Amino acid sequence: MSKSLQAIRGMNDILPEQTPVWRYFEGTVSRLLDNYGYKQIRMPIVEFTELFKRSIGEVTDIVEKEMYTFDDRNGDSLTLRPEGTAACVRAVLEHGITGGGQVQKLWYIGPMFRHERPQKGRYRQFHQIGLEVFNLDGPDIDAELIVLTWRLWGELGIRDAVKLELNSLGTSESRARYREALVEYLSAHHDKLDEDSQRRLKTNPLRVLDTKNADTQAVLVDAPKMADYLDDESRAHFEGLKARLDAVGIPYVLNPKLVRGLDYYSKTVFEWVTDKLGAQGTVCAGGRYDGLVEQMGGKPTPGVGFAMGIERLVLLLETLEQIPDEISRQVDVYLCAFGEEAELAGLALAERVRDQLPNLRLQVNAGAGSFKSQFKKADKSGALYALILGDDEMAQQVVGFKPLRGQGEQQSIAWDALAAHLATCVVQG
Ligand code: ATP
Ligand code: MG
Repeated sequence: MSKSLQAIRGMNDILPEQTPVWRYFEGTVSRLLDNYGYKQIRMPIVEFTELFKRSIGEVTDIVEKEMYTFDDRNGDSLTLRPEGTAACVRAVLEHGITGGGQVQKLWYIGPMFRHERPQKGRYRQFHQIGLEVFNLDGPDIDAELIVLTWRLWGELGIRDAVKLELNSLGTSESRARYREALVEYLSAHHDKLDEDSQRRLKTNPLRVLDTKNADTQAVLVDAPKMADYLDDESRAHFEGLKARLDAVGIPYVLNPKLVRGLDYYSKTVFEWVTDKLGAQGTVCAGGRYDGLVEQMGGKPTPGVGFAMGIERLVLLLETLEQIPDEISRQVDVYLCAFGEEAELAGLALAERVRDQLPNLRLQVNAGAGSFKSQFKKADKSGALYALILGDDEMAQQVVGFKPLRGQGEQQSIAWDALAAHLATCVVQG
């Protein structure tokens, strides 16, 4: 196939054999979020470029080199969203739903776009589920976000494979004081820093902390520590969060080098990481952003949130073989009919059964075919039972009921009794 008719590198189709896992994951998350009282919000995929520059920060990897930006036909600069927080903040401000201190506990799901180097766990179109909470400034809500992800990992059977890393960046004032001390220290060791860190020292010095360069890491050993610069308020907030995690029994490690890529964080930052996926190990990341709403033109409004990467979590479920068997079976019962009269009766019968059992996954054979070919399709569908309508069954107004997996002989069931019979032998999801 010519290259221009193929999908764009790093942007993937999710094929029918993969969608059951995605739907299982998404279904599990959305049920859990409903139960914790979060409401879904849906934002456009495209926004004005300015929105992301203002919120994410001009000197971040995302804005500097990862955005898909283009001019609209009327000359506006637009960008495919690289993350969800900016658009979510824009939406709540535009509709005034956080005004007067109204609490909003929101979640969203959808594709994000970043021009990165595609590799396992890193794509150019990827999918996130994100949460944002507005107008709650205490550590209790930071803790809730972490507690509910902990429950999610438990429900998905991946709790043992993920680890929580935690840090506090302090208020913007304490962060500014720390930044000053760090710049002073690093400037004194300027020549020993790698090139990237030398550049970041000028533009976004905290990012030097998460460098992968060994020489720079060596310089950082004796650098000032963020924890020593926290003001009392941030310190109390952080202690409050840790006490709550301890109360629930959620283990964590403190990582003073965790700064997160985006400019807007303050106080709590956290990441859930796994060592089961190679280099792309962060499956969920977030933190508090008390200054962001104001920075975007709203009234001061505390905020906290996180986003998880669906591709990485699906990969983790597959790697750990934590995919329930039943999710890949999409058919309970397959109806085979032979001859036109049987086809008509079969169609009507199927609809009657569906009326009575709305959750039954009943597939009616299409495209006619011999006994052998229809039976083969029934088997391949994964159905537990085949229903058979041939001349004999038509004459007696019954349907042949044949178990396809394991024991049990074929029986004849009267049409009127079919739904009741199916209800006893198919567990309906
Ligand atoms: P990373 O350090 O892996 O680049 P990030 O800090 O840029 O991640 P965030 O902006 O915090 O990521 O996004 C939250 C989550 O979204 C990440 O933890 C990850 O699971 C997922 N994610 C981010 N970028 C990608 C991508 N290009 N492909 C797939 N998943 C991604
Ligand atoms: Mg990134």
